[in-house]
Parts: sequence; structure tokens; C-alpha cells
Amino acid sequence: MPSLSQWPKRDDLYRYLDSILSASPDPVALIALLIINLDNFRDLCELFEYRDIEEFLAQVGQIIMNSCPDYSYMAWLGSDEFAVVLPKATKEDVERTAAAICQNLAEPMAFHERQVHITGSLGYALLPDDAKDRYEIIKNATMAMNWVKKQGKNGYARFEAAMGQQVNRKLKLINDFGTALEQGQFRLQYQPQVSVASRSIVGAEALLRWQHPEFNLIPPLEFIPLAEESGYIHHIGEWVLYQAASDFSAWLQKGIILERLAVNVSIVQLQKPDFAKRSLHILEETHLDPAYLELEITESQSMDLPKVRPQIEQLRNHGVRFAIDDFGTGFASLNHLRYMGFDTIKIDKAYIHNILTNSRDQVIVNSILNMAKMLRLGIIAEGVETDDQWQYIVQAGIKEVQGYYCSPPVDQPVFEELVRKEFCF
Ligand code: C2E
Ligand code: CA
Ligand code: CA
Repeated sequence: MPSLSQWPKRDDLYRYLDSILSASPDPVALIALLIINLDNFRDLCELFEYRDIEEFLAQVGQIIMNSCPDYSYMAWLGSDEFAVVLPKATKEDVERTAAAICQNLAEPMAFHERQVHITGSLGYALLPDDAKDRYEIIKNATMAMNWVKKQGKNGYARFEAAMGQQVNRKLKLINDFGTALEQGQFRLQYQPQVSVASRSIVGAEALLRWQHPEFNLIPPLEFIPLAEESGYIHHIGEWVLYQAASDFSAWLQKGIILERLAVNVSIVQLQKPDFAKRSLHILEETHLDPAYLELEITESQSMDLPKVRPQIEQLRNHGVRFAIDDFGTGFASLNHLRYMGFDTIKIDKAYIHNILTNSRDQVIVNSILNMAKMLRLGIIAEGVETDDQWQYIVQAGIKEVQGYYCSPPVDQPVFEELVRKEFCF
């Protein structure tokens, strides 16, 4: 098996495409470019020693190569991305090849005495139908690959012009972050965190909303990743903390006393060396005791935690607490999370959703609960929607709940009313 460094690289691919494009065109045959990117590659990297990753990728490359016709040209584009060119293909050849690559990638793979499960997302474009030159075919095949990722990964698609509009929306949103902050298009909603024992509100989680002038309300799951990618997350995150801390501080002054203000932060924010300092400054400005604040970091970003530990420690020294959000898959590492300085576990709503019927989810939730008890971590069950789920949670011994059953996220004045009325549902 060739090592990764022996594969043609990106520059070689460009040269190859130029050479076949400058040759006399065949009026019938098409040129197809396929771009393949592995799904969840970062998670996968955690399974291996760093030095094994190249060997693993070389094996992946071999699988792709074996799925292609003999006349194909293949290149490694860096990281977990590969390209295949079919220089004289029919549409059927391309479809068949794309399907074979995805299928073969999804087969369990033997690597260093273990079975590894991977999948890939593949996008392709045809010349002359979908592109006029080398630049456009690369751009469009990549766009199709990104589109497959967005649709849920593990599959393939041919480029279509409509995919471009989605990508344009992405660029437009990134472009609009600056004015959104200036023009007050962001606002916060608050969702109650409810004590099971007293059925009363003990905390508030701040959730960000973007009212876009053209696209209307944009869900945070769409724009937060773009803010992370573009670096705007630092500005936006500071705005969120300032706003939430001001609101909470005002509540306290009005006699609305809660134990906790939960604010979501992206690990990208913590990677800025002055994150702790600036956050503490915001708390000072808004006159909020840091002991009220709990910062939530989602479990999917937990592999980057070791890098940001000094920031976490600095904030913890001032009394700020930390919660791990959307928890549910890697519960074996709870001990590690405790060590990293977490105080609270938020069980992902996916587990609560099927808790009554799915015995596997019941086992997982119980294991998380037992581990958390031993490690003296607080637990919040998220996404409780029905009375049956509530009953189950109570019986299981979970002390705090967040979910539509108690209340959806609401605007600040509504939240204030809920607490004032000592809202019990
Ligand atoms: P999250 O932190 O897990 O927030 C909980 C999400 O679940 C919220 O979605 C909330 O509306 C929804 N939810 C609450 N109760 C229920 C329920 O009973 N059933 C169901 N199906 N859903 C429920 P939302 O507001 O769309 O936020 C989505 C995600 O966006 C958040 O997930 C969080 O990861 C992120 N996010 C929101 N605001 C911020 C922010 O200010 N900064 C950062 N970095 N991320 C944020
Ligand atoms: Ca959260
Ligand atoms: Ca969550």
C-alpha cells in the first residue's frame, strides 16, 4: 500500500486537470471530478495515536481507489479529503463509482486489530455540463460535497445550481454579523431550569436569537457554527454574556432571586487567551457575582478542553461554574470532565426523548446518573416534554429539568413574570 506522501497532491491534481482539459475534447465523454471527505474525522482522530492517522488515511485512500475504474486519477488533498477524476466517463459510470465509494467506505474497516466504522460524504461535478473550467469544477464538486454534509453526511450528490444558493446564504449571513450586532438584531430568550423537588424555577438558560431582516428568525444551530468559523463568535459571545448578566443582575435587584444563570459558550471563545479576563470584566461591569454564572460547553467540543484548561481554572477561581452540554455518548470520560473542572452534566434531549421506550437509552441515562452521583456532579435533564417523561425523570432521581413540559424559552419580560408568579406547572 502506498504511503500518503506518495499520492498525487492538490497541485498535481490541478496540473492533471489542466492537461486533460487542454487535450482535444471528446464530444461524447464527460470529465467527472469527485471530492470525498470523511465524516466526523475529528472524533475519529481521538481513537488513534497521532502517528497512526497517516497510515489510516492511506488505507482509506486505498478503499477509494479500489472502488474506482482502472482509468481513474486519484489525489490526496490533505487531511481527510480525497479527489478522483474520471477523465472519460458516462453519467452512469460516475453514479456507479460514487455509490461504490460511499458503500465501501461505510463497511467496517480493520485497523490495528480493531474495527473502525467510518462514512464519507461525496460531491461531484461534470464537465462540460456543470462547469466550464478547472476552477469551476473544483468549486462545484466541493459545494456538492458540503451540501451532502449538511443533509446528514454519508452519501453522494451531483452538483446543482440550487446548492449554490444555500452556500450564498452562508456567505451572506457571515457578512451580516457585523450589522446584526450594531443594529440590535440579536436578542436573548430564557428557558427555566426547574427543581424537581419544589417544581419551581431555580435557574435560567440564555438562548440566542437572530432576527434577520431578510431571512427572519435564524436558528442558533445554523448561525453559531458560522460565527465560530468566521471569528465573530467572540463579539457575539461577549454580547450574550453582557446582556444575560445585565438581565440577571436587574432581576436580583428587583428581588427575583435565582441560583443560576446558564450561558452557552463555544470552545472557540475559550481559545482566546483573554477570554477569562474579559468575561470577569463583563461580570464586574454588570455587577453580577460570578458565583451565579454557569458556562455551558457542548460535549461535541470536549476534545479541545485540555487546551483551554487555564481559562477554565481562572474563571473557577473566581467562582464561575461549568456545565457539559448535550452529554450522552462518551460517559466513560465523566471522570475526566470532573478533573477538567465541570460541575454539572446536562443529559442530551435525544436520550430523554425515547426514555420511556428505549431500554438502551434508559441504561445510558442510569449509568450517567450513577457516575455523576459518585463524582458529585449536578445533573440536569434536557428536553423533557411530557408528563410521562417527567415522572420517569423524578423516579430516576434526577433533581433538575429543562424542557417544553415546564416552559419553552421565552422573552425576558415573560420569564420575569413566570418567576414572579412562582410559576408551578
Ligand atoms: P442547547 O444549549 O442544548 O439549548 C437547548 C435547545 O433545546 C434550545 O434550542 C431549546 O429551545 C431547545 N429545547 C428546550 N426544551 C426543549 C424540549 O423540551 N424539546 C425540544 N425538542 N427542544 C427543547 P435553541 O434555542 O434552538 O438552541 C440550539 C443550540 O444553539 C443550543 O443548544 C446551543 O448549543 C446553541 N446556542 C444557543 N444560544 C447560544 C449562545 O448564546 N452561544 C452559543 N455558543 N451557543 C448558543
Ligand atoms: Ca445549553
Ligand atoms: Ca443541550
